[in-house]
Amino acid sequence: MTVRYTYRCAACSHHGQVHLDDDSHEGEHTACSACGATATLEWVGGATLHRAAPTVETLMAAAFMPGRDPRSAEYKEGVRAGLTMRIDGRQMVVPYTLGTAQCDAYLAGCEEGKAIWRERTAISSGSLARRDNYTDA
Ligand SMILES: [Zn+2]
Repeated sequence: MTVRYTYRCAACSHHGQVHLDDDSHEGEHTACSACGATATLEWVGGATLHRAAPTVETLMAAAFMPGRDPRSAEYKEGVRAGLTMRIDGRQMVVPYTLGTAQCDAYLAGCEEGKAIWRERTAISSGSLARRDNYTDA
């Protein structure tokens, strides 16, 4: 498997990424690809790239890693629904009354779930550059 790490170069602010073969390299140093200064690797939690298809659970865990601002239960439920729609091809019934705050949070979460899936699909197919051309079909 390949694990993706990111780093932010303190010298030139370059934001780079490195792929290594396992998840034990967090906190190690690498040379900034832009200026050669030493930068510290950060593991992108949940962004382990391997052949197995991502599951709703792994994507949820990555989306709501510790450190993120808390989200409401409805929002998280929406993200889960958005991911489930994309991964399982299932259509979800909105469990809230349209126009309520819970429904808005749910639908916003749903959009994030779909966005996570689009991004993941772009990464795994090696077509990151085309990400912006995706339409929400
Ligand atoms: Zn640099």
